[in-house]
Amino acid sequence: MEKILNYINGELVEPTNGNYLDNYNPSNGEVYSLIPDSEKQDIDNAVAAAKEAFKSWSKTTKQERSEILMKLADSIDKYSEELIKAESKDNGKPETLAAHVDIPRASSNIRFFAGAILHDSSEMHEMDGIAINYTLRNPLGVAACISPWNLPLYLLTWKIAPALATGNTVVAKPSEVTPMTAYLLSKICIEAGFPKGVLNIVHGLGSKTGDPLTTHPDTPIVSFTGGTVTGKHIATVTAPMFKKLSLELGGKNPNIIFADADFDKAVSTAARAAFTNQGQICLCGSRIFVQEEIYEKFKIALVAKTSNLKVGDPKDISSDLGAVVSKGHMEKILSKIEQAKQLGGKILIGGKREIFEGELKDGYYLQPTIIEGLPFDCDINQEEIFGPVVTIIPFKTEQEVIEMANSTKYGLSASIFTENISKGHRVAANIDAGVVWINTWLLRDLRIPFGGMKQSGIGREGGFKSLQFFTEPKNVCVKI
Ligand code: NDP
Repeated sequence: MEKILNYINGELVEPTNGNYLDNYNPSNGEVYSLIPDSEKQDIDNAVAAAKEAFKSWSKTTKQERSEILMKLADSIDKYSEELIKAESKDNGKPETLAAHVDIPRASSNIRFFAGAILHDSSEMHEMDGIAINYTLRNPLGVAACISPWNLPLYLLTWKIAPALATGNTVVAKPSEVTPMTAYLLSKICIEAGFPKGVLNIVHGLGSKTGDPLTTHPDTPIVSFTGGTVTGKHIATVTAPMFKKLSLELGGKNPNIIFADADFDKAVSTAARAAFTNQGQICLCGSRIFVQEEIYEKFKIALVAKTSNLKVGDPKDISSDLGAVVSKGHMEKILSKIEQAKQLGGKILIGGKREIFEGELKDGYYLQPTIIEGLPFDCDINQEEIFGPVVTIIPFKTEQEVIEMANSTKYGLSASIFTENISKGHRVAANIDAGVVWINTWLLRDLRIPFGGMKQSGIGREGGFKSLQFFTEPKNVCVKI
């Protein structure tokens, strides 16, 4: 069986304790590879390699770093077919989704930051002929980059690219649930002649490798994407060390449909926002608020649209939804559906595990599920489920929907559907969310600052904000 290895100081190495964990294929429930069960010693080795490499990497010119990163992006494209298959096999998502979203976006993340570093500028403030103040921006050292399982290579590259472009070196820890694309990336780095120690990837459980990485005295900067509970823990353990910290956490995103919306567009986008990647995108619209006048009509149309979605083999190009990421996650989602029923929720469609015959019989498939009749402030409408399960809730007025939308502890994203542009802007301004879409979903210019409000995170990554996050500003004042 294939053994995934850690990537430390430019080499693929076994975990120091020699222990491995099983890696499951969610589409059939089989173990198909082994993952290093790394520990503190592996993290220490990776940080030491990254610290040593920082001495030379931080001295390279922006042009040199840009060229090396561009070459890496080209290599990702070269191996895109292998990466697409690996991403789907590790995560359960349809290969078509990995081919359209995850893998192309991984190389475009790297290209974006490789280009951005060449066009970055720093601030200058002139004091009426007395002095000029300018800001130097220097890399900090070794960046700890921790990423989740839902968009494994996409979110890993979103962090490592700006960290490396600005002259930091990196120790990355991908989710242990989906390690394969990060492992392939390390092989690609070796083939592309990526400088030793600049990027290191350590695989293993968050519980064993997370703390040693985030609390290591030589990782002054921590960029984390994952759940709010883990984010809270990282904030707690890193705060006394005054590390630079970015947290991109969970969401319970409202999708608000006004009566004057373009009906067909709102229905199809609501279905896409609910069920893409089996509902396992932090930006999924999991609470659908529909204005009373069109509630019944919208509900019927959304259920009809959902009934046309095909759950099936991730390898089959006609599958709209594949498997959810793990058995444990599937069971958690099913328990949330049970809880919704006990709270009085009515299942409009779905609600069960999808069982197939033959090869897929032990896969973790769930039916796309829509629930109505739950109060906006019940647990199901307040906590992230992170699966193909959404609720639909009627509302009367603009004010009422703003209050319901803002009632959760999260504030990641929101969508608003209306043909009244003033109303769209007005509601967008009043929703607690780091990203608000009007008449669309998941459309984003990589230059915008991205991140959440409230318990959806702190800091903003994306575009030049990421270049700022991964550098330390130093102000110099020169007397004229
Ligand atoms: P987790 O918080 O469980 O894990 C995220 C990463 O943190 C994993 O690599 C995990 O390792 C690691 N980790 C676990 N414990 C620690 C620790 N003590 N110290 C450091 N790292 C640790 O999230 P999931 O992987 O389950 O991802 C899903 C979550 O991510 C959802 O809540 C989703 O909303 C959120 N998310 C947010 C996004 C955003 O941009 N705001 C984007 C995408 C997802 P391991 O897996 O080995 O335990």
